[in-house]
Amino acid sequence: MTSTASATATTPVVETSVPITVIRGDGIGPEVVDASLRLMREAGANLDVEECIAGAEVFKAGDQTGVPNATVDSIQRTSVAFKGPLETPIGFGEKSANVTLRKMFEMYGNIRPAREIPGLATPFAGRGIDLVIVRENIEDLYAGIEHMQTPGVALSLKVITHHGSEKIARLAFEFARSEGRTSVTCATKANIMKLGEGMFKRTFDEVAADYPEIEARQILVDNAAHQLVMRPEQFDVIVTTNMNGDILSDLTSGLVGGLGFAPSANIGSEASMFEAVHGSAPDIAGRDLANPSASMLSAVMMLRHIGQPAVASAMEDAILYTLEQGTSLTGDIAAPGTAVGTTAFTDAVIGNLGQVPTTGERRASRPMVMPAPGWRPKPVTVTKREVVGMDVLIEESEMTAQQVGQKIEECTQGSPLRLQWIGSRGTKVYPGETEDTEMIDTWRCRFLRADTEATLTDDHLYHLLSCIGAKFQWANIQKLQEFDGVPGFTKAQGED
Ligand code: NAD
Repeated sequence: MTSTASATATTPVVETSVPITVIRGDGIGPEVVDASLRLMREAGANLDVEECIAGAEVFKAGDQTGVPNATVDSIQRTSVAFKGPLETPIGFGEKSANVTLRKMFEMYGNIRPAREIPGLATPFAGRGIDLVIVRENIEDLYAGIEHMQTPGVALSLKVITHHGSEKIARLAFEFARSEGRTSVTCATKANIMKLGEGMFKRTFDEVAADYPEIEARQILVDNAAHQLVMRPEQFDVIVTTNMNGDILSDLTSGLVGGLGFAPSANIGSEASMFEAVHGSAPDIAGRDLANPSASMLSAVMMLRHIGQPAVASAMEDAILYTLEQGTSLTGDIAAPGTAVGTTAFTDAVIGNLGQVPTTGERRASRPMVMPAPGWRPKPVTVTKREVVGMDVLIEESEMTAQQVGQKIEECTQGSPLRLQWIGSRGTKVYPGETEDTEMIDTWRCRFLRADTEATLTDDHLYHLLSCIGAKFQWANIQKLQEFDGVPGFTKAQGED
């Protein structure tokens, strides 16, 4: 689409055409994406569209990734994608094509604004909600690393890196700066996950020092959920880990009218992708029932990102004006018997280009100053690292904690390692009385060096492991290290 031709005399003129990849997607995807493309064309966006496919039809054709090479090549060329929702059909592919696209292009930041829409009747109307969730998009439990330790015990790894935390914290502050926002709140569960969520929290504080004009706040994520319902207007930008952000951002979209109004941007250093938060809505697909506002507002975010801000603002005004008027609303928000279809709503918005909503203020925004492509945070270095022990996860369903402990103690004879404790699901059960703790069939055995001056070698660890392996099934081992004298592992519940 090279679209300035259809723009009216009052629409902004954009000289330079920007190539974008468009994936219309599954279910209601084609309907809402087509509506957004029509609006962009009529508003004067200057885009060269490369249309590509991903999702259900790709899985059905036997490509287990859901994302064909031609689509990957296109995004590599354009570095901007506008997409509809993609289904992950059960039985065709194991991984979500959405997550594949985000990870393949390292789109590490998921920006999800939740802003009160003038005229929309919600329980929170009139509170002036205008906040943005900036969600880390690659790491955390969504790294997707899971293992069955025994037939009845699963372990899902929560991966948090200083690298990923620094990138997302920087994006949150840059986004806040670009929109003239005054605070960024970091929401974590650092009181419980002191290393993972704690690293995210500490890295946020480091990055905050580079943005002295923006207030940096910390909040526990459970309190954030509570505060978002009690007093959502207090928040400006919230930055958080992947899982926290997934949950909080669904909550915040519910505050301002629901999925039909929730846009999002997936930001990476090399490529970015813009899409509605909602899914393919198979229950209403193909029936001209979908609300295209979320997709249209995602297009607004994209146009700001690619340097067509005047067109973006004209579109945003027309969408908000149409919703404010309340005479052409889709079925998800219209009063009974008054709903219009996707096409009629889009016609109304296009007809309202040039209008400005009478309530609510337009937020001015300027481009983010993102790090140059290829920028990477510096690796964390230490001057001293020492191996101080090992955790071994073993499987045993018949013995008591005392019996397991005694057998394991036998293996430490002659070893520089001693058994510190045995834990069950994070609680110390040996040595000591454990009557109140329910045992399952996995036991974590923690070994530390008996003499804190001793040097542990891998051979010491192998030797101990082979003795344990002769007595028990072991499922997992973890080296325990200290970095500059700071233990890189947590204690068990009940450990002194
Ligand atoms: P969904 O968002 O598709 O639908 C949830 C409910 O909201 C449905 O009742 C639907 O009719 C309604 N709804 C959603 N968008 C709407 C709109 N624009 N207008 C009016 N009503 C709307 O969630 P789901 O049913 O859990 O997921 C369906 C499929 O979408 C699944 O295959 C899922 O994997 C996929 N999905 C994709 C994405 C994505 O591509 N980013 C996101 C979420 C879900």
